[in-house]
Amino acid sequence: MIHLVLKLNSSNWVIELLRNIVIITIDSLRPDHMSLYGYDRDTTPFLRSLVNEFGIYKRAYSNGPNTITSFIASFTSTYPIMFLSKDPNTGRHRYVLKYRITLPEILNKYGYETIAFNTNPYLSKYRLGLSTKFTKPFELLPGITIAGKKTHRNSLSLFISLAKPFKSFLNRLKFKNYTLYAYIRSFYHRLYGASRPYMTAEEVNNYVRKYIMSGDFSWKNKLIWIHYMDTHVPYYPYQRYLNVFNKSVSAYDALIANHYLYLKYIRSHKNIRWIDEDEIIKIITDAYDALVLYIDDQLKELFKIFEDSGMPEDTIIAIFSDHGDEHLEHGSFSHGHSLYEELVRIAFLLKDDIRKGYIDDRVQLLDFSPHILWLLGIKKPIQMMGSKLLHRNTIYMETIVPPIRRTYGDVIRGILYEKYKLIYNETRNQYELYDLEKDPKESLNIYMKELDFSSKLINELRQFIKNIKRYEVKLKLTSIF
Ligand SMILES: [Zn+2]
Repeated sequence: MIHLVLKLNSSNWVIELLRNIVIITIDSLRPDHMSLYGYDRDTTPFLRSLVNEFGIYKRAYSNGPNTITSFIASFTSTYPIMFLSKDPNTGRHRYVLKYRITLPEILNKYGYETIAFNTNPYLSKYRLGLSTKFTKPFELLPGITIAGKKTHRNSLSLFISLAKPFKSFLNRLKFKNYTLYAYIRSFYHRLYGASRPYMTAEEVNNYVRKYIMSGDFSWKNKLIWIHYMDTHVPYYPYQRYLNVFNKSVSAYDALIANHYLYLKYIRSHKNIRWIDEDEIIKIITDAYDALVLYIDDQLKELFKIFEDSGMPEDTIIAIFSDHGDEHLEHGSFSHGHSLYEELVRIAFLLKDDIRKGYIDDRVQLLDFSPHILWLLGIKKPIQMMGSKLLHRNTIYMETIVPPIRRTYGDVIRGILYEKYKLIYNETRNQYELYDLEKDPKESLNIYMKELDFSSKLINELRQFIKNIKRYEVKLKLTSIF
């Protein structure tokens, strides 16, 4: 139902849209680690309780495997690396939004007040600048140094507080004897604790509560976006949540396991050895699940804040992850570097009073902003390439491998076509083809076996890229609206 009110504003009649919008995004949240999507550990009891109110999209995809690519797709409805001939992970991508119109900017033109509670430095004014497109941006970034500037409140890694010689000794030790390094680091953590690199969901909720419960706030023409970072690496769970899944591991061990995987699989220090890697993945999984459970609890808290503040029943609420995270399924850790399922499958829940319960349709983040505009009866700008949420037989995705990694700068493109996924590393001219029905874990590359079909998909992908490039030229020639 669309609520419209005709109002006399000075001498003009204007349409006032009254339906509020809340967008909650959770970094690196994998749907296959949520009981909402059938995971055997009950990590999301609160989200499960929303099944009767929300549409739960079982097969939702991000159009890119990291924060920047994903948010460009969801908030501008354009493909992530369109407009960029070079790396969007460097300072260049702060100019990306100059050529694109974002959802909050459009809604602002229709009288919305747009409020952002952002905890991700890559979305902040220091990088993509998505938060700056909101009328009231809150950059909740403790202790992050980005683009050479340190944000407020310094609570970075514990090593900053260590004396220099000891720090350099430890730095050398970790490559020579990680076991001893882990022991010393764990001992240090136990003595002095460890700080979190991101603002916790609980702290974010406190900001949200303070803002919404202040006398100045009213639920009228509001777009509120809240981003949580808790499930982002490094996984550092609260001990009481970790105890739910594993009582014998300390949260500090989880941090050390993260650090090991970072050195070995992101920084490519292949010679370092620690404990059995199955054991490390177990610790990582327990820590990650504990964080998912924590986020679920904090979402419950957030919904209570909304309820206490008198949020109208017809508010549109979206909850989704920007991308997943890899736990060595394809030999790597964290995200941004590939287009496998563990990175591009996302959680996606939407309360729009159109659809409720589990939905089988395969959907993409590119359609998120156009869908919101469609719900409000606002015509989408020509620039937006998606449409309202529909089942997609074909979904296109892309990334440029971020810095730090050995494959930094590789352009990787992928296309989902029916039950198949074709991945093309443009830089290395490598192809992979997977049958997602028979092989959902993408363990068997059938590109050579299905050469004819692969060529058909490659043509499809090439045509797609060509069309995007044509679109790009057309957009540069026309205004963004
Ligand atoms: Zn992210």
